[in-house]
Amino acid sequence: MSGKQIESQYDAVIVGAGAAGLSAALAYLAGWQGTRRPKLLVFSKLEALRSHTGSAEGGIAASLGNEEKDDWHWHYFDTVKGGDWLVDQDAAKILAQEATGTVVALEHAGVAFSRSQDGHIAQRRFGGHTSQFGKQPVKRAAYAADRIGHQILTSLWQQCVRAGVDFAEEWYVCDLALDPTGHSVEGLVALDTHEGHIHAIQASQVIICSGGAGRLFHTTSNSWDLTGDGMSLALRAGLQLEDMEFIQFHPTGLAHTGILLSEASRAEGGVLRNAQGEAFMGRYAPEQADLAARDVVSRAILEEVRQGRGVADPREPDGPKDCVWLDLRAISPEDLEAKLPQVAETIRFYAGLDPSRDLVPVKPTAHYMMGGIPISTQGQVYRWKDGCRQPIAGLYAAGECSCVGVHGANRLGGNSLLDACLFGHRSGLAAANQSQERDQRAGDNSRLERLAQERSQQLKELFAQAQAQQTITTKAADQAGRQGQERQEQQANAYQLIDRIGALLDRCLAVSCDADSIQSALEQIEGELLPAANKLSLSDPSKQFNQELTAILEAGNLALLAQCVLRASLNRQESRGSLFRRDYPQRNDQDFLKHSLLDMAGQRDWQDVHILDFPPGSRGY
Ligand SMILES: Cc1cc2nc3c(=O)[nH]c(=O)nc-3n(C[C@H](O)[C@H](O)[C@H](O)COP(=O)(O)OP(=O)(O)OC[C@H]3O[C@@H](n4cnc5c(N)ncnc54)[C@H](O)[C@@H]3O)c2cc1C
Repeated sequence: MSGKQIESQYDAVIVGAGAAGLSAALAYLAGWQGTRRPKLLVFSKLEALRSHTGSAEGGIAASLGNEEKDDWHWHYFDTVKGGDWLVDQDAAKILAQEATGTVVALEHAGVAFSRSQDGHIAQRRFGGHTSQFGKQPVKRAAYAADRIGHQILTSLWQQCVRAGVDFAEEWYVCDLALDPTGHSVEGLVALDTHEGHIHAIQASQVIICSGGAGRLFHTTSNSWDLTGDGMSLALRAGLQLEDMEFIQFHPTGLAHTGILLSEASRAEGGVLRNAQGEAFMGRYAPEQADLAARDVVSRAILEEVRQGRGVADPREPDGPKDCVWLDLRAISPEDLEAKLPQVAETIRFYAGLDPSRDLVPVKPTAHYMMGGIPISTQGQVYRWKDGCRQPIAGLYAAGECSCVGVHGANRLGGNSLLDACLFGHRSGLAAANQSQERDQRAGDNSRLERLAQERSQQLKELFAQAQAQQTITTKAADQAGRQGQERQEQQANAYQLIDRIGALLDRCLAVSCDADSIQSALEQIEGELLPAANKLSLSDPSKQFNQELTAILEAGNLALLAQCVLRASLNRQESRGSLFRRDYPQRNDQDFLKHSLLDMAGQRDWQDVHILDFPPGSRGY
């Protein structure tokens, strides 16, 4: 199998082919002012159409007002309030104002939205979206049955193919190189997984759109590839990450798989029930009940379980009673098939249950990272130093790996596809606008070359060890039957390490935590798992499509991010949005109405929240 031939120098490279990466690519081409065609390459460690964006089910938020009267000011307010006031209001204003244009552009790109009776784009209710500044719920999420992400991903991808965007699929980006001053980008180091070779790619502009890091947890709705690579690249390049303590748990993960059952299932009439059959959400959130904010519903489920009203997965009746029921029986079979086909299929396929007759066991599942690589509203990455933002020339980010500040401490449903498409577009445009200036950059690439050499050396050693190990193992196995195999199994293995990180964070950080639980997890990460990640070895010496090799790189990224998330959670001594500290159960605006920034060495800093219109507790204009 031969890998794609790529060049060693590009005008722009994009890491990631989800909603953010594809939106950035299209905008970059549209905004390019040069007389020649730009050299643009999009990397994806998966085939582009397997990016996680394709799994998004419920909808994309925009105040189109097609079903009920709506206004972008209300969307703006809901976003700020939903983020528990940690939202940068300049960014949230752009999000709400430009949402309608973004959805219309998606429609023009080919997204087959579901339609209302009169032919407009149909909209459904999602938690936290209201009219009149919180007075009543409003239908704001534009949807395509329960497959909105699939529609967006395939439509944007088709537009990219039409525009001649060049993809390097199944290429794994391992390092980001900044120049020795740390203020300007040099390029990327990438592994061609087809061949097992390392390449150094010089680029005037780099846009990181590598998605989230749900695989930090064992129970997650995220696909296997979401190992936070882009965030970890930034950390290792000497940059900071922002607000990493905020991780959203979605209340309805299918028991013991974590697979998401969309919020749309409750929007269409589904109800959560405890072991006694009680629809308990009314006790926790009298107004919004089952459609209360995701952190409220997730904590309510854990409280029901704690008080002994949880249920076991019917597949393991003797297992832990750590779930509650999702009751979809009031939804007619016709509506289930028309509006929730994906949800119904997931329940049938993975749980063997019939959602029109059976109760479905669910529990909170790690879903979304609010924090990430800090960016401006133009998508430019910056370093926070001496109380101001120092932009990194030529470096951009967008989508779930980034933090523009629109989600604050908690994200509203439908706002992340919007964030990825809208700020993906803005970052692509900004990169294109700056291309002329950086195009002729003579460029010192010393850092890039050094990083590429170090990676090549690491791979060479891993392959050589695997080869040697295989010979020893075969001999030993020949000589002593099963002993050789057992010896090999005792060695650290990337998959087991990822499992251990996930189980640890599930236990010590998920949904609620305190200083003791965070400290004990941090000790294990720093004392055991991070060192183990740096010593992982390969058992299979093949160079082509060696998935164990990428798993080793991913395990290293996850261990590093786990440390960052734990440190950030420890630093924030309050409860806000998705972070619930049992030892500090109240929000503390006086000391913590600010964004956290952390680098790899654990150096922390704080940045003020941009407040324009809505101070904490505001009830609107
Ligand atoms: C099950 C599920 C349902 C959701 N439903 C909704 C919803 O209804 N509404 C909503 O607004 N949001 C929803 N979300 C969230 C939303 O889908 C994501 O936040 C958004 O799609 C992220 O887009 P992205 O472009 O940032 O990343 P992704 O779509 O995750 O793409 C990441 C890309 O980066 C590439 N990549 C990563 N690392 C590397 C590397 N090292 N080298 C090369 N390439 C790399 C991957 O190959 C991939 O192409 C949902 C999420 C999940 C998991």
